[in-house]
Amino acid sequence: MTQSLFPTYQRWDIRPKKGLGCWLQSEDGKEYLDFTSGIGVTSLGHCNPEVGKAVKYQLEHFWHTSNLFTLTIQEQVANLLSEASGLDRVFFCNSGAEANEAAIKLAKKATGRKKIISCLGSFHGRTYATMGATGQEKVRIGYGPMLEQFDYISFNDIASVSKKIDGDTAAIMLEVVQGEGGINLATKEFLTEIQEVASKNGVLIIVDEIQTGIGRTGTCFAYQQFDFSPHIVTVAKALGNGLPIGAMIGKAELIEYFGPGSHGSTFGGNPVSLVACKATLESIFQDEFLALIEQKGHYLKSQLKQQLSNSNYVVDIRGMGLMIGIELASEANDIVIKLQEAGMLTLSAGPNVLRLLPPLNVSYEEMDIAIQRICQAIHSQSGIFLTQK
Ligand SMILES: *Cc1c(COP(=O)(O)O)cnc(C)c1O
Repeated sequence: MTQSLFPTYQRWDIRPKKGLGCWLQSEDGKEYLDFTSGIGVTSLGHCNPEVGKAVKYQLEHFWHTSNLFTLTIQEQVANLLSEASGLDRVFFCNSGAEANEAAIKLAKKATGRKKIISCLGSFHGRTYATMGATGQEKVRIGYGPMLEQFDYISFNDIASVSKKIDGDTAAIMLEVVQGEGGINLATKEFLTEIQEVASKNGVLIIVDEIQTGIGRTGTCFAYQQFDFSPHIVTVAKALGNGLPIGAMIGKAELIEYFGPGSHGSTFGGNPVSLVACKATLESIFQDEFLALIEQKGHYLKSQLKQQLSNSNYVVDIRGMGLMIGIELASEANDIVIKLQEAGMLTLSAGPNVLRLLPPLNVSYEEMDIAIQRICQAIHSQSGIFLTQK
């Protein structure tokens, strides 16, 4: 086939044809157990029937009207998000980067300050502002100069918090579990220090829950597992179970800074995406469902730890809920490719971490198949790795 795409992605040689639940079939008829969920997006599985039903209904009513109208569905979803987060107001957009972009604009406007602090190893998006917020040099190569006044601290480096945050800082922005950066978990002490220093200096806290939010870690949002209270929370990825939607959720004290004309998006809060979002949130934001995520995550992690305990090739296994990383002694991509041959889809995160983001409604049988395939791939690769060493 002639290739008319910009080669911005290093693509896999798999052409999806049909997905159902945790399974994805390619055009050549091969079946894959999908533990990527489209990078943490289809958290209720492919072609989830409740979400599908809501979307089909909306497609027969209206698709788009613009934000000049008062849309009941926007108010309903905003209520679900504010109730679950304990925050007060929601702005809808179309992607994660846009949600963070809104957060950065709002934080600067509300504080009248310019500096934004984020963490090394973070990922916040690909727009100019969010590329600046991302604590990874590689995303910025060739795009300089960046927007001014982004600065970085090392993740979990408690001492650096009070050195970098001061009265000129508008906000500190962070992921509670760094996703792209390698499934790095924030420590309780780090978050406590951020909360204290931020509150002392009138600095806003922005938590990027784009990958960790919407139940992924076993609670509605990952920050809720800590004594941590952000002013702004951003979500996207799993929010519409595959339909494009992002949102920024903020505290009441910020309302006056995002008045009429201050920010906007033509497609933001599109009703087709939002009915998908409502169906998704109604399934995930249930105590029993969230408790199951926690249990399944524990099972998956402990089984992997047990069965890989004798492997010198595995450096660490960590995660929260169903966001799990297996740190390897060399490139995780080798395992990603090996697993594809074995009919299983996984991701890498950073160079050496194999990342698992299964659908949150994955079954124990499916997890057992995954565990078997992953352990087999890692054991066979560790043989190769050790002989090469
Ligand atoms: C994916 C991701 C983003 C960017 O989201 P897009 O929808 O691709 O713009 C931002 N932050 C985090 C933590 C992410 O995982």
